[in-house]
Amino acid sequence: MTEGSTFREFPKMKDIYGSLVFDRREMKQRLPEDVYENLIGAIEGRQKLDSGIADTVALAMKDWAVSKGADHWAHWFHPLSEKTAEKHTAFLTSDENGNPLNSFRGKDLVQSEPDASSFPSGGTRSTFEARGYSAWDPTSPAFIVKSRKGGTLCIPSVFIAYDGSPLDMKTYLLRSMQAVESRAMKILKIFGNRGIRYVHATVGGEQEFFLLDRPKAQKRTDIRFCGRTLIGSRPPRDQKMEDHYLGAIQPRVLAYMEDVQRDLARLGVDLETRHNEAARCQFEFAPQFTEANLACDQNQIIMETMRKMARQHELRLLFNEKPFNGLNGSGKHINFSLQDSEGRNLLRPSANHRKNVIFLSFLSAFVLGVSKYSGLLQASVSTPGNMYRLGGNEAPPYIISVYLGDAVTAMLNTIENGDDSIPQEKLTLDLGLSKLPDIIAFDSDRNRTSPLAFTGNKFEFRAPGASQAMAVPVTSLFSVWAAGLEEFIGYFEKRVEKGEDPIDAAIKTIRKVSEMSRTIRFEGDAYAEGWHEEAEKRGLIKARTIPEGIDLLTEPKTLAMLESLGIFTRKEMEAFHTIKLESFINNMEIEMSVLNDMIWEGVLPAISRQIILERDSFAAAKDAGLEKDERWRKLILKLAKAKTDLMEATEKLVKVHEKMAAMSTGDHARTIVDEAVPLMADIRKIADSVEPFLSSDNMPYPNYRDLLSLSA
Ligand code: ADP
Ligand code: MG
Repeated sequence: MTEGSTFREFPKMKDIYGSLVFDRREMKQRLPEDVYENLIGAIEGRQKLDSGIADTVALAMKDWAVSKGADHWAHWFHPLSEKTAEKHTAFLTSDENGNPLNSFRGKDLVQSEPDASSFPSGGTRSTFEARGYSAWDPTSPAFIVKSRKGGTLCIPSVFIAYDGSPLDMKTYLLRSMQAVESRAMKILKIFGNRGIRYVHATVGGEQEFFLLDRPKAQKRTDIRFCGRTLIGSRPPRDQKMEDHYLGAIQPRVLAYMEDVQRDLARLGVDLETRHNEAARCQFEFAPQFTEANLACDQNQIIMETMRKMARQHELRLLFNEKPFNGLNGSGKHINFSLQDSEGRNLLRPSANHRKNVIFLSFLSAFVLGVSKYSGLLQASVSTPGNMYRLGGNEAPPYIISVYLGDAVTAMLNTIENGDDSIPQEKLTLDLGLSKLPDIIAFDSDRNRTSPLAFTGNKFEFRAPGASQAMAVPVTSLFSVWAAGLEEFIGYFEKRVEKGEDPIDAAIKTIRKVSEMSRTIRFEGDAYAEGWHEEAEKRGLIKARTIPEGIDLLTEPKTLAMLESLGIFTRKEMEAFHTIKLESFINNMEIEMSVLNDMIWEGVLPAISRQIILERDSFAAAKDAGLEKDERWRKLILKLAKAKTDLMEATEKLVKVHEKMAAMSTGDHARTIVDEAVPLMADIRKIADSVEPFLSSDNMPYPNYRDLLSLSA
């Protein structure tokens, strides 16, 4: 439990910022200079970590953690189930004389051995050889999670099986970052930038979510177990949802957000913005972007802090991608770029010709990568929750394309047309106000319908779902970019080696790769009807269903690319593919069971009670001399018909469920999509059609109107 909401007097953000993080400031203060230098060198990727310093670092970390009230430590990692895991060990032990002693040694810091058997491995290991170990990742700082009476020092770690195969996402993420960063360094060297010490992948993830009143939400089995409604729909007259976006935040929600922000500030997570989102009860947090690995860890910390705080505020937090039919879903927009050791953003356009050519090289190399490996990006967002979100009219379609905006498109078109001078006049918008800086024109030029958009000085991937661990899409994005850069470098380097001027050689390479990747670029409205047809013609539709999307993980050319870049081996990817399919199946099976339970436990009895109520009142009305009774009779018939239809449809669902038990993973997933999902939709339709006729005394589940009002 966090301490935020119990504070009487609230501390200032700047006084508490990072107070629970073992950051550079603490390291510098607590470590001998040579140890500090070695550690920072390792963090920045300049040198290897000297194993001899582990004891010194561990001692300093322990003293710091104990001074902050921590009494346990844990290696903190992300198993492939997309959750985080930690096994707490107490600092306190006793020495040979039985005296209490706080102990935390270098070897505890560097390596730990949680039991790996209960984590998914996709069949890479059997349970009897289920040993794995977690290893310290110094590039993400240790932090303390406070509890009511103490706290745990969390050490961000990778999690690996004894045969060396990763059991977590972080290993793959770090490999993809290394792949893209090393190629970015290489390309900058060819341009002649020799002073660059490193390039870092940067990420900022925007997190959307819903907040409901907890006591009301807990009355719904679907929300409790699935985090989304499986029956229920928006009342037909309730069209006035749009005024919620960017409106004033309700005091109850604001109080929650402030507590979350304060706890996160202590953990060094800086939330830049908070606002209402499009749907009622929907909101968004966006942290300040940071280095990719840290950003993914921070997103886990953000989600965990939000969950804990929601309980304290009697709120139910939903990260599910599509909690409500007919309302906006929740995504996790991933903004990303590359930044060099001089602090330059490599996706920032420039009025300086040379810098702009470098910018266009990075940009077009990414677009090239996407055009070749869009399947991997689609696979990375193929999650159960996204099945109901993507392709709706408020989320990007389940088709990958790239939007670049007018200004960049104009630059690329000029280059493609054979002109080597890139137009500059469109770069800035002249506001005619000398006191205001020129605004980069394409900053305002947004296309919200595209799954992948250039937004002025970074790309934004909008397809990932709100509940996903960022590491999966981020790993995919940087893999794709690394592959694009690799190919770009191939053409570019050849020209430079032949003696061409790097800038001329780069422009020719941009022209070539730009032409190669034209089909992935789409500047139009991706929500529009025509886009599917157009995308089909362009060959961009790679998968129509989530299992088909998951299968794109093992597309031969993607596997070859990932292997050659050293990010996934074939065996690792096959295991990962199995885990993703199994997780889709598990998730959908839970939804099927919960739906069936809700129909039999709640909806059918409610219909029966309603029928009896109508029959009794009908009889009474007739006794009183009612003559015209057609409406009454029809209502009872409607209820009775719905009841039989529901019984029939749920029986079919149970049969499908039983039939699938014996199937292979692939067939199982496909049958869910082909048979179970349509049946679930039928059941929902029937249940929703009678919902307005059931009295609230009879219906045990609060409806959308109740659920979506937070004011209580
Ligand atoms: P939006 O209009 O989409 O909300 P913002 O400018 O508010 O865009 O940024 C959204 C997110 O993008 C924030 O988390 C921000 O820190 C992040 N971001 C900004 N610049 C970069 C960058 N160079 N690399 C990665 N993320 C970035
Ligand atoms: Mg955004």
